[in-house]
Amino acid sequence: MRKQFLVLGVAMVAMAATMTFVHADQQGGAGQAAPPAQGRGGGRGPATPPDANGECPKGMTLVRVGSCQAPEFPPPSIVDYRPKSTLVTEQHLVPKSKFPSIDLHGHPGQMVTSVDGITGMVKEMDKMNLRVMISADNSSGQTLVTKTTAVTASGVNKDRVRILTGINFSNVGPGWADKAIAQLEADVKAGAIGIGEIGKGFGMDTRKPDGSRLRIDDPELDPLWDACARLKMVVFIHTAEPPEFYSPLDMHNERWLELSLFRDRRRYEPDQVKFDDLMQQRDNLFKKHPKTTFVAAHFAWCGQDLGKCGRLLDMYPNVNLEVGAVLYDFGRQPRGAHDFFVKYQDRILFGKDAWAPEEYPYYWRVFETKDEYFDYYRNYHAFWKLYGMDLPDVVLKKLYFQNALRLLPGLPQTGWPK
Ligand SMILES: [Zn+2]
Repeated sequence: MRKQFLVLGVAMVAMAATMTFVHADQQGGAGQAAPPAQGRGGGRGPATPPDANGECPKGMTLVRVGSCQAPEFPPPSIVDYRPKSTLVTEQHLVPKSKFPSIDLHGHPGQMVTSVDGITGMVKEMDKMNLRVMISADNSSGQTLVTKTTAVTASGVNKDRVRILTGINFSNVGPGWADKAIAQLEADVKAGAIGIGEIGKGFGMDTRKPDGSRLRIDDPELDPLWDACARLKMVVFIHTAEPPEFYSPLDMHNERWLELSLFRDRRRYEPDQVKFDDLMQQRDNLFKKHPKTTFVAAHFAWCGQDLGKCGRLLDMYPNVNLEVGAVLYDFGRQPRGAHDFFVKYQDRILFGKDAWAPEEYPYYWRVFETKDEYFDYYRNYHAFWKLYGMDLPDVVLKKLYFQNALRLLPGLPQTGWPK
């Protein structure tokens, strides 16, 4: 009964369309000008060709090869347009990492200064199978002692947290290195298991006493980096901002929204150090100190160009990569990222950057599943969806804990899966 009704409906629509056609044809026959050719899309005017660069005029979009058109309704802004995907596909949420994990790029801040803070944090860590939180908050001197004391006092949780020390880059000049090394040695004695996160200000903002910018490869720093090798202190270093932050804020910038939201991320102004210059200074540092082990935060900002990451790792065997806050680049190239993580499985470490327990499961899902076209947790980072990389267990174990255990001997070394 219902089916018959539907068939009848379709016939009526077809009939109405025919009638309209006849009507229009009759009008044309009565001597009125025919409307301009519109194509099947039913556009509103003559075709507007793109310019010499293949771009449509402002307010128009490409509807056919060589033909631009403006939407009939005022288009929503990128802030308001939130299309809901109609894709129906299998979903596998991953609340816990498949193997116990270590967060090299942790910023627990004040939480690790007290037993209560650590206890509360560990409760959240357990929910996602995060076994060790590494505080990469540059804790040196008394701050470090406060944190390592709290860790030691936290009883059953004393192996759930480890602390990195920091380098004080103020007043770099003659005599600076000796003082910095003495402090580093004291911090190692106080329980620091590595150095970091050396912040992005190093290279971009930090100044020498004469007011000039402190270069990442400044020779005054050389004795310190060599001391790191002697003391077996891994150097976890963040250099520069994402490359898009150095590009003009125009309609082609992938991070337009983010740059518009956060003033302090705009690095395209003329007085800023250029991205390539910063990368060069950083690579000079890697090259000058082959015995010092470095971990480059945020995948050395080459997650959008894995070929470049490969050349970096091939060139400098003392360099490793950390995955914090660049999940959007792996998730948009799951096959290429899969192959890269397999090829360089001994050189990549897990890190999250920013303590937001609800965000970790996005990492597990991208690394572990074959899921397709799912949301990322931060809209302004990426105007696209994520896909799972489906990494094999052997790679997941190295990513989640084995590489960290090897590079940072001060981590709790027992009780891990084989
Ligand atoms: Zn960080």
